Amino acid sequence: MKYVTATDAGLISCHACGHLQARARPKAGQAHQRCGRCNSPLHLRHPDSLMRTWALLIAAALLYIPANLLPVMHTASLVGDEDDTIMSGVVYFWTSGDAPLAVIVFIASILVPMLKLTVIALLCITSQRRSTWRPIERSKLYRLVEFIGRWSMLDIFVVTLTVALVRFQSLAVITAGPGAIAFGSVVILTMMASMQFDPRLIWDPVDEDKHQQQHPTQHSQDRPHE
Ligand SMILES: [Zn+2]
Repeated sequence: MKYVTATDAGLISCHACGHLQARARPKAGQAHQRCGRCNSPLHLRHPDSLMRTWALLIAAALLYIPANLLPVMHTASLVGDEDDTIMSGVVYFWTSGDAPLAVIVFIASILVPMLKLTVIALLCITSQRRSTWRPIERSKLYRLVEFIGRWSMLDIFVVTLTVALVRFQSLAVITAGPGAIAFGSVVILTMMASMQFDPRLIWDPVDEDKHQQQHPTQHSQDRPHE
């Protein structure tokens, strides 16, 4: 595997418009070099990527608790009131013969958010420790999280669909419970966390190791640090 990174070549790319240009000192009065095309501030890596990812991730993990413990659905009918959490909904679908729906809700609402939180935490920890452990697999995990992101609203869709179906069938009034707000926040915060993570951080320690093996005497101060 042989490649030259933009940093090695003394180049920097613009986050906003993608324009690749030579690195230079910032102009007087400016903290950062500006893009020659669109004038955005240039950075070698997304600034404070790990700190921002951690902040959003911790917020999402905290909200994951009320999202699962508080009711997401409140049903008021002639028989009485009922509050359902995600898990009690899954159990309800399972016992009432809607096994496929139970599986979809379980995967989309409990398993996937948990996996996403775990994967992003793993990416953050390994990048923070400048680990060179399995970079290709970690890049794949990152792509997986990005890919799942666009399906994250699936569970909201399932809840909406259920509400619509149940409304249609019976004389019940169904409203979203506080758990639904917490759950929506978990989904959005996790998406934002994965957007803040700069996947190039996975490769920086790997490239740095390689660079040091090739030029053991050279200082690595020109290389991007988080
Ligand atoms: Zn630009």
